[in-house]
Amino acid sequence: MSNQAKLYTPVPGKTYSLFAEGDDSEHYYDAIKRLADVFLQRCPGEKKLLNLIRKAEKKTFLSRRQTTEAERQTLRFMRETLRQSLSIYTRKVANHLQSLSPAQRMDSTLITTEEQYHLYMLEIELVNRIYREEFQRAAYKFALLAHCLRDFRPECRAEKGDIEEVCQGCTEDCLIRLGSVLLEKYGIKPYISVERDQEKLFRRLKQEHPSIGALGIACIPELALGMRLCLRLGIPAVGLPLNANRCARWMAQAHETSFNLEKLEELLT
Ligand code: SF4
Repeated sequence: MSNQAKLYTPVPGKTYSLFAEGDDSEHYYDAIKRLADVFLQRCPGEKKLLNLIRKAEKKTFLSRRQTTEAERQTLRFMRETLRQSLSIYTRKVANHLQSLSPAQRMDSTLITTEEQYHLYMLEIELVNRIYREEFQRAAYKFALLAHCLRDFRPECRAEKGDIEEVCQGCTEDCLIRLGSVLLEKYGIKPYISVERDQEKLFRRLKQEHPSIGALGIACIPELALGMRLCLRLGIPAVGLPLNANRCARWMAQAHETSFNLEKLEELLT
């Protein structure tokens, strides 16, 4: 299959797919941009809106007391508007949640609710808007690409690099190769993400490179949480969601997935 065909072949995910409205993920990106603009009219300032949606997650008595009535109204409006606009991308979340075993329910990523997916989608859009310039100004920039983006047909020849695995470009159509070529063009070091202890890795990199920026390409929950981790450690982060979640963590067996290469270039320019 050619790369062009692969990029625009809709694939289902375990819980979500950004191909809901057609043969590419363009509609999703239009929708999330439009939604962020609508919410910013009601709650001006990207950082303020980001703080508000993070508040929406906290269910403690204290956080409820710290939320004003006006914020509660905005949150209700946002939740409902997000549900109406984004449910087409997250139709399989309910079935997935029902199918989880008791052991799987211990995994906080696997138990992500549909509402939380929608809030993460908005969060990723806002974080990209807030930190894009700071990321671009960083002296050292690295990117972590989900391993399920590789071409599954050949035996992957990626090799251990200085921080994570590095693509060896063994096949033309591989999305990791295509993404890596693009990232390198913009001075970003691309890696395939395999390390489980990302906090340890990010702390080390921050120490080694005080002026640092991170870019992630991962499934929605992992990307949103990875971006939060970077920001908590003082690393400006940007990222792009996978078009669908299809790795072995989500499915019984790993399946190839994709991301929107054009949107990656937009983020870098
Ligand atoms: S192009 Fe890179 S990531 Fe893709 S299969 Fe080859 S070595 Fe692995």
